[in-house]
Amino acid sequence: MGRGFGLRLSFQSQFTLNEKSDRSLKEKNKTKDIVAQATPEIKQRVQELRQLLQKASYAYYALDAPVMEDAVYDQLYRQLQELEITYPELIVPESPTQRVGEEPASEFSSVRHNIPLYSLENAFNLEEFSQWQQRWQRHLSDNSAVDAEYVCELKIDGSALALTYEQGILVRGVTRGDGITGEDITQNVRTIRSIPLRINLPEAPAFVEVRGEAFLPLDVFEQINQERSQAGEQLFANPRNAAAGTLRQLDSRIVAQRRLDFFAYTLHLENQELDNNPKSQWEALELLQKLGFRVNPHRRFCASWQDVNDYYEYWDRRRQNLPYLTDGIVVKFNSFALQEQLGFTQKFPRWAIALKYPAQEAPTRVEEIIINVGRTGALTPMARLQPVQLSGTTVQRATLHNSDFIAQLDVRVGDTVIVRKAGEIIPEVVRVLPQLRPDGVESFQMPSHCPVCGQPVVRPNSEAVIRCINASCPAIVKGTLTHWASRDALDINGLGEKIVEQLVDKSLVFSVADLYDLTVEQLVSLERMGKKSAEKLIAAISQSKTQPWFRVLYGLGIRHVGRVNAKTLAEQFPTVEQLIEVSLANIESVYGIGPEIAHSVYSWFQVSSNQKLIERLGNAGLQLAAKIETKVTFKPQSVRGKSFVITGTLPTLKRDQAKDLIHKAGGKVTSSISSKTNYLVVGEAAGSKLEKAQALGITQLNEAQLLTLLESD
Ligand code: NAD
Repeated sequence: MGRGFGLRLSFQSQFTLNEKSDRSLKEKNKTKDIVAQATPEIKQRVQELRQLLQKASYAYYALDAPVMEDAVYDQLYRQLQELEITYPELIVPESPTQRVGEEPASEFSSVRHNIPLYSLENAFNLEEFSQWQQRWQRHLSDNSAVDAEYVCELKIDGSALALTYEQGILVRGVTRGDGITGEDITQNVRTIRSIPLRINLPEAPAFVEVRGEAFLPLDVFEQINQERSQAGEQLFANPRNAAAGTLRQLDSRIVAQRRLDFFAYTLHLENQELDNNPKSQWEALELLQKLGFRVNPHRRFCASWQDVNDYYEYWDRRRQNLPYLTDGIVVKFNSFALQEQLGFTQKFPRWAIALKYPAQEAPTRVEEIIINVGRTGALTPMARLQPVQLSGTTVQRATLHNSDFIAQLDVRVGDTVIVRKAGEIIPEVVRVLPQLRPDGVESFQMPSHCPVCGQPVVRPNSEAVIRCINASCPAIVKGTLTHWASRDALDINGLGEKIVEQLVDKSLVFSVADLYDLTVEQLVSLERMGKKSAEKLIAAISQSKTQPWFRVLYGLGIRHVGRVNAKTLAEQFPTVEQLIEVSLANIESVYGIGPEIAHSVYSWFQVSSNQKLIERLGNAGLQLAAKIETKVTFKPQSVRGKSFVITGTLPTLKRDQAKDLIHKAGGKVTSSISSKTNYLVVGEAAGSKLEKAQALGITQLNEAQLLTLLESD
């Protein structure tokens, strides 16, 4: 993202995105003396969040057709949770934060769970996770001397089921529903092959309840969607929804065809306390396996918190290789005695937590739209965001690209937006949630004047970008200087953005050429610049005069001339004079230089102020010719016996004159390219010979290079 200097349009945020766990927030609020009063705006926001979450929840649980990403849902939920904790008077029983899942749908009969089916507390990063661990570690060391042992399991992204066995026979299969009552889907559950209809116990207890996750393996999911697509049916959004939808099919023959699978993770026995019965989660999982259930093979016994962290990081990297989806890991205290001691909240067991994998997308709020002016004068809008966790990092800014992009999304200051990391580096705003737009928010307009120099901006035809075209705009000058000093250009050590900013603001420098007139005395007048540093900087500036021609060309910051193009151009035009005099067509004929680049270079060298700049740089002693490069590229060697082909019109020599010179030096000139050709001399409007020479890897020379070669012979 280009650095820039610019205008700020600000918005006072009243909300902060929750990044702490429910519990730590409650603790924080307990210490507050003054109970916060909810303003009408906050009440409205709470209302809006609830409506949106309710809609999403209905689509997700009842229709199995989600309308937003899980991570987006989770974070909006967090925002609501935080507001309700700060303003407890706003809590109502029907709030999504007070409920587990959805009420059962009417097609199946409702069944009350023997033991409520709780949800899991969530952590969204290792820091939140460690807060959870520390909280219980403290609790444990106060109450008992038990060393915590954990069992880590993959959090399978499917649908929870409760299976009841009486005298060893499967009698009931129920969905989670709202945690208290679920739907009786026994007929469908019987079709899942990994669920035993009878359990392998010689003396099966009268009552056994097994819980676990029904899921669709990825390949089955894809196959189902393919079939649906061929049949013109609506596709499932993801395997989780496909699994949930399948389980609630009224026709169990369809369920049987869909090949659902099941991992068991919880075992309730009638007399859990009997000596032979498992005393820990680890033992329970082993027993489940013996009973004939599929238990996930990637479970891990963890004796330390570090093991848990390693497990999480390992699966965050490897989960893509699994044949089913997981959306995190679940960590459980191993000992059942300890689990009992910790108990449950209204919604969660206190002894377990889900650590979700970092989100790729997240909702947050636009607090300001900042306009940056880059070194090419482009005005780039950027959203300053409420900090949000994304792919493991805190994101505070996102690019809005240009005015077309803003108009297309209709993004406004104050909006809740979804941000994503594009290519994992620069975050961008992908869409707006208009339902959460506060009243009275106006659409955003790009400024008509440069926010830095105040001059009118222009929007060149067919470009999406708005530009400041004032060459002495401080933002452009600063950008140009910073680019000039950068590592790939003139590599001036110590000339960073902060110094550049002061040099321009104090009117010590107006262009890159002014750098070479700076004195130690002038530099010591800058903030935090001692005499020694000033001398060092002057020496570094002076040292840059030895940098080769292609770096100078790159440093000039001509649009579209990156490092590679600068090198190509410097090789083809080894002196600055050639670049000033060359025709547009001749620049275009250089391999790798397209019409847009050629036009940009040609126009830049036609501008008289740029020519003056070049003259000043030349007088200052900068390298404006490729002295060393030419020799390196074309090792002096005898021209005698070498074969040349000439294509296109040379700038000064007539074809015959060139041939003559080559012959005189002992070389020969042929009319067609072959593997025996040593050099292709390239002029303007070169033909197919150029392509053939490139394919054969034959060295190309322009007229100047040919002359250098002939002279060096
Ligand atoms: P959850 O999915 O975050 O976690 C609890 C569930 O994890 C359990 O009920 C169980 O089914 C499952 N689980 C998987 N592996 C497990 C294991 N090894 N041990 C224990 N449990 C395991 O919580 P939830 O209450 O089921 O659902 C809430 C989640 O649903 C939200 O976090 C959100 O991501 C998603 N949701 C999304 C939308 C949407 O619009 N996209 C809407 C509502 C809910």
